[in-house]
Order: sequence, then C-alpha cells, then structure tokens
Amino acid sequence: MADPKGFLNHGREVAQSRPVDVRLKDWNEVYVPGSLLPIIGKQAGRCMDCGIPFCHNGCPLGNLIPEWNDFAYRENWSAASERLHATNNFPEFTGRLCPAPCESACVLGINQPAVTIKNVEVSIIDKAWETGDVAPQAPERLSGKTVAVIGSGPAGLAAAQQLTRAGHTVAVYERADRIGGLLRYGIPEFKMEKRHINRRIEQMRAEGTRFRTGIEIGRDLKATDLKKRYDAVVIAAGATTARDLPVPGRELKGVYQAMEYLPLSNKVQEGDYVTSPVSAEGKHVVVIGGGDTGADCVGTAHRQGAASVTQLEIMPKPGEERNPGQPWPTFPMLYKVTSAHEEGGERVYSVSTTHFEGDEDGNVQWLHLTEVEFVDGRLTPKPGTERKIPAQLVTLAMGFTGTDQDNGLVAQFGLDLDERGNIARDADFQTSVPGVYVAGDAGRGQSLIVWAIAEGRSAARGVDRFLTGASELPAPIRPTDRSLMV
Ligand SMILES: Cc1cc2nc3c(=O)[nH]c(=O)nc-3n(C[C@H](O)[C@H](O)[C@H](O)COP(=O)(O)OP(=O)(O)OC[C@H]3O[C@@H](n4cnc5c(N)ncnc54)[C@H](O)[C@@H]3O)c2cc1C
Ligand code: SF4
Repeated sequence: MADPKGFLNHGREVAQSRPVDVRLKDWNEVYVPGSLLPIIGKQAGRCMDCGIPFCHNGCPLGNLIPEWNDFAYRENWSAASERLHATNNFPEFTGRLCPAPCESACVLGINQPAVTIKNVEVSIIDKAWETGDVAPQAPERLSGKTVAVIGSGPAGLAAAQQLTRAGHTVAVYERADRIGGLLRYGIPEFKMEKRHINRRIEQMRAEGTRFRTGIEIGRDLKATDLKKRYDAVVIAAGATTARDLPVPGRELKGVYQAMEYLPLSNKVQEGDYVTSPVSAEGKHVVVIGGGDTGADCVGTAHRQGAASVTQLEIMPKPGEERNPGQPWPTFPMLYKVTSAHEEGGERVYSVSTTHFEGDEDGNVQWLHLTEVEFVDGRLTPKPGTERKIPAQLVTLAMGFTGTDQDNGLVAQFGLDLDERGNIARDADFQTSVPGVYVAGDAGRGQSLIVWAIAEGRSAARGVDRFLTGASELPAPIRPTDRSLMV
C-alpha cells in the first residue's frame, strides 16, 4: 500500500485547467502542461490498495490500478508503465478521454472523493514517453499468418497491435485519409492532441503493423476479395451511422450531423484547411444532444467564435448526486460539467425540436422547440411551451445507430446482425462467418474508447486461437460484458 494514511491526510486534487479566455484562443489540450506531476504522488498515495479493488471491476480493461498507484507514489515510473501496459495498449488515450468508470467504482468513493485514477494513468504514460520507456515491441518470430483489420479506431489499433506482437502479419485498412477513427476525426484537439495518435502509429509501424488509408472495404475492395487475401479478418469499422432528426426544415442549409461538422475542424488542425468550411464564427449555434459528442460541438463552436451556443437535451437534467437506483459502485448518470461547458453556452433540458425555419435562401435561422415531460412513461410535449430560438448553425449529436451498411461490407461478408442491429459475434468475438471477427462499436454499438480497446484485445486473442490453435494473448472481456453499466 502506497501511503497508509494518504487518504486521511490528502484530499482529491485534479489537473489544473488553463483559464477559459486563454484556452479559447487555441486548440491545445485544456490542461496546464506539467501541472499534474507535482501533485500526483500524493494523489496516488490516497489509494488504499483495497482487498477487493472495485476499481478493477469498474474498468473494462481490468486495469491493475492499485499496483500502478503504488509505483507512481514511489516515483518508480518505469514499473508503473509496465503495469499500465499489461492491460492497456493506449493509456494516453484513456488517460485523457475516458469517463473513468474505475473512479465511480473506487472504494474511497463510498464516503470521500475517489482516487484520481485517470490523472495518475495519464501522468504515468506521459512520463513513460518522455523517458523512452515506450519502445516498439517487435515479435521475435513471425507466424506466417496474415490478418486484415478493417478500421483504425481504438478497437482496430488495439487488435492490430496485439496480433502483430503475437507474430502475425497485420494490415489495417482505413477508409479515411488518416489513421485513428473517432480519435482522429471525432474528438477535438482540445480534448486530445493528435500527436498522441501519431506517436503510437510510429511505434506500431516499427513493430511491423502496416497501414493502408483511403481504402473502403466493400466499396474500393470487395470484402470477399479481402477475405481471400488474408487468413483472418477483424472488423473494427465502428458504429458510424448517425441518428437523424426527421422534422420539417431538416434539409435547410446549416443543419449538420455532428460528424459532418467536427472532422472539418480537426482537419484544420491537421493543416488541410486554413479555416473550417463549416464554421460557427459569428453564428448562433444550437447543438441537439446533451452527451459528449454535443459537448465537443460546444467547445469547437466557441473556439470558432460563435455568437452564442445552446445545447438542447430531450431528457431531464440529471442530478448532481447518485440516486438510489444507481448506487456505488455502478457508473451513475450525473450532471457533468465538461471542459467545454466551463467555457460558456447555455444548456437546456427537457426540450424537443419540432421544426427548423429558414430564410428565403434556404439557410436555417430559427429552431422551434417545445418542452417535454414524462406522461405514462413517455416523453410528451407540454402544451403552451412552444418557442423558437435563433439557430444559424445546428449540429445533430443524437447518437449513432450502428455500423455503416451502405458500403456493402456487411452484405458482402454475409454477416448476421444481433437484435440491436450490430454485427453478431460469439464468445471469441467471431462473427457468423468463420475467420471474420468483430471488435469495438461495430459489434457493441456506440460505446467508449476503453471498451473498444478491451474488445480489440479480446478479439485479437480469438483470432490468434483461430490461426494457431492456442493463444497467450489476454482477453479482458466477453462480448456480452456490460459490467457496471457504462
Ligand atoms: C465526437 C465523439 C466524441 C467522443 N468522445 C469520447 C470520449 O471522450 N471518450 C470516450 O471514451 N469515447 C468517446 N467517444 C466514443 C468513442 O470515440 C468510440 O466508442 C470509439 O472510437 C469506438 O472505437 P472503434 O474502433 O470501434 O470505432 P471508430 O473509432 O469509429 O473507428 C472506426 C473506423 O473504421 C473506419 N471504417 C468504417 N468502415 C470502413 C470500411 N468499410 N473500410 C475501411 N475503414 C472503415 C472508419 O472510417 C473509422 O476510422 C466519442 C465519439 C464521438 C463521435
Ligand atoms: S478501489 Fe480505489 S482505493 Fe481501492 S484499490 Fe482501487 S483505486 Fe485504490
């Protein structure tokens, strides 16, 4: 145990954010660089090294949290990094982006603020990169087997890295022009600078993983041809089909899906554009959807110089404390103030959009809404609450319905879908087609980076067993795991 009295002597302290007026002028991560290291020892020392560490169970990767808390407390960064990588290929992604179900499950959280597990994680991995502890791990011998991975988000990258290290020859196919999936083109720079992805890709290339961008399987290369060329295939194509809002005026100019809006801004950061072709500058912006994707639109619109930003959510405002139906150690639905929300804008709950109104040129100008309430378990408009708000740019951030089927990928492979419309798989992550596996949002439905990495690792084990008859690769989860409801 790091410090037996740590949790008694020290309160929870988290990473410092840069002042709002400063960080809105750039796209860098919101935290003060270097602000964590001086406090992280004490914070890691708050860990009680519980007999039953519920944090393990809260984390889909089964991260060995008390072990690396102890090493971080003792400033043994090298050992901490080794323990961190034992269960997680990309802790720099989760350390920045994960909603940290481990912290919701932390035993200290029963009557005190939880251990700052995520901050410890990111400190360990940043230190490991700085000191050169993250080196390529090329396999000692090659198996002679080949694997194609479709999609380069966290699930595809995790599967590819595990399989390459197991000695298989792996090629990752990505339809976008750059590697990274939603890490690259969904998540804004201010949440995670893309240099973190680039650095990992360099490591993966050095280990032997090959990357093919600009190729959409199903469209540019038939799925059946791909299958003939490789001994096994992992589909990690995400759940990129966005939920739409079929109300009058949806066709007006200025109404975009969040994933039409956010990637353009990320492309500005990559140097592809000087300014975004869809910019919020000087506009009244309305973001429909109260989740993380919506928050990313809010932060992006503020940085682009929006005149105002309003985020709408159909559900009631969540509470700030756990309710009895979501007791410790489950992951509770709480009112969350993300860094984007700290930066301004208005959040409106219990409202539903009825229609959009445009000008004579077909540009959206107003959004009409009504308040809603639960009546007999159904969200129902409240009579007399209709009103309109200015809306010159609207982004739809209402979630995703499943993997893209327009490109023929699912049909060409002849894959079965499950009852939720995701690609069905067995306990080894194998689809209905032998030798074809699925990981991440494509099989799970829209979820989190931590689940995508966990699924990529588990699917890799399934593929390794398929190719060689046995596997020493770890499998953190089963396809049906939905532990602690995240
Ligand atoms: C805006 C936004 C913000 C988010 N923020 C967070 C966050 O802060 N924290 C968090 O934990 N989760 C977040 N998520 C969710 C998280 O990003 C996803 O759960 C995760 O990226 C899923 O990983 P994946 O590898 O399964 O799929 P993806 O990341 O979606 O990657 C799939 C890749 O497959 C490619 N592809 C698809 N079809 C083909 C094909 N036929 N051929 C070739 N390539 C193909 C796609 O182009 C894409 O690059 C966010 C999601 C969005 C949309
Ligand atoms: S549950 Fe919290 S206090 Fe207990 S071992 Fe995990 S991080 Fe430490």
